[in-house]
Amino acid sequence: MSARAISILGATGSIGRSTVAVVEELRAQGQDIRVEALAAGGDVAGVAELARRLRPRFVALAEEAKRADLQAALAGTGIEIGAGESAVEEAGARPADWVMAAIVGVAGLRSTMAAIGQGATVAIANKESFACAGPLVRRAAAASSATILPVDSEHNAIFQVLGAPDQVEKVTITASGGPFRTASLEAMAAATPHQACAHPNWSMGAKISIDSATLMNKGLELIEASYLFDIAPDRLDVLVHPQSVVHALVHYVDGSVLAHLAAPDMRTPIAHTFAWPARAQVSTPRLDLAAIAALTFEAPDLTRFPALALARAALVEGPKASCALNAANEIAVQAFIDGRIGFLDIARVVGEVLESLERDALKGFQKSPSSFDEVRAIDAAARTAARTLAGGPR
Ligand code: NAD
Ligand code: MG
Repeated sequence: MSARAISILGATGSIGRSTVAVVEELRAQGQDIRVEALAAGGDVAGVAELARRLRPRFVALAEEAKRADLQAALAGTGIEIGAGESAVEEAGARPADWVMAAIVGVAGLRSTMAAIGQGATVAIANKESFACAGPLVRRAAAASSATILPVDSEHNAIFQVLGAPDQVEKVTITASGGPFRTASLEAMAAATPHQACAHPNWSMGAKISIDSATLMNKGLELIEASYLFDIAPDRLDVLVHPQSVVHALVHYVDGSVLAHLAAPDMRTPIAHTFAWPARAQVSTPRLDLAAIAALTFEAPDLTRFPALALARAALVEGPKASCALNAANEIAVQAFIDGRIGFLDIARVVGEVLESLERDALKGFQKSPSSFDEVRAIDAAARTAARTLAGGPR
């Protein structure tokens, strides 16, 4: 049998590195895995180090200006390199059996679509692809017969316990509540990016960490779940569960509830998508319920975490609104990281952009964009609107 060819998009990130760890562990067990492509944003040293370890055929860096640095870093390895957005897209398009789509933000859309377009099994961590173009992603997967497997822990959990649609009453995803679960609004107003990134249970990239602190992450996950599993918004629930042990619950029409439990470590869902429909032996932490002792649950507080309500409203409103929400959030999170706005302003900016859907730059787009060009135009208009509200040019 020939080697299994894989590619990792967003290889230098938190999910990318967890994926590399899984791949290296399975290789050490004797699995024949060949890396076709690695893609990253601008971390030359990081991606070059991974490339020397994994020996991919192709390495793509988004930052065009760093092409020469990448070339120098990989000199003598014989590894083909590319730089710029189209090179990252090519990394997704190169023939592979399994592709990890783990670039953060809308920046991951093109390469994720390229992987779907070639009909690969695509493990999707890049939830922003669903937020900005959920129906188009689904349609493309159906057209190419690509298999989409969810990496996000809650969606991977749903995937593992979901039954037939006529048996399912509702689906609940859990949220840790983030670092400000018990914080006052005053404390949240004064929160620094450092505090917002200090997630209690997961170690993740900056953007998703801040999304977890506002609960926008859970909002994006509602959108992701709705498009991934074709579940209406009113059948999707969020429950705050600080221990992050139960990741999702599927409620059946007879009152049965099937939950998925695992220690909070992304290598578990990554390994699941890698081995599916089989399972892989990976050395993730084992769940010790006696040590954890108590699992607790509470309803999310939409007053302190309005982002969750905004995302739900956008999901109900339709794909144009979800796309605008996601784009505005990306700008607002960056403005918060840069110190231009406060923590609570993130949801304010997103809310104001959503209110302007029928005005100014966002007016004139249909509720459900029918092409990726339209998606990109809505995304760009929402970014412009958010930049104005977040008081800066970036
Ligand atoms: P991260 O910031 O740690 O890594 C992001 C990766 O994307 C890096 O490799 C970076 O170089 C690359 N990148 C950034 N901009 C790029 C561009 N323009 N072109 C190509 N590559 C680019 O983020 P992360 O925490 O690994 O999250 C990645 C995705 O996975 C996000 O969509 C996030 O929501 C999702 N996710 C993450 C976790 C987690 O535990 N970290 C869990 C569930 C879902
Ligand atoms: Mg998640």
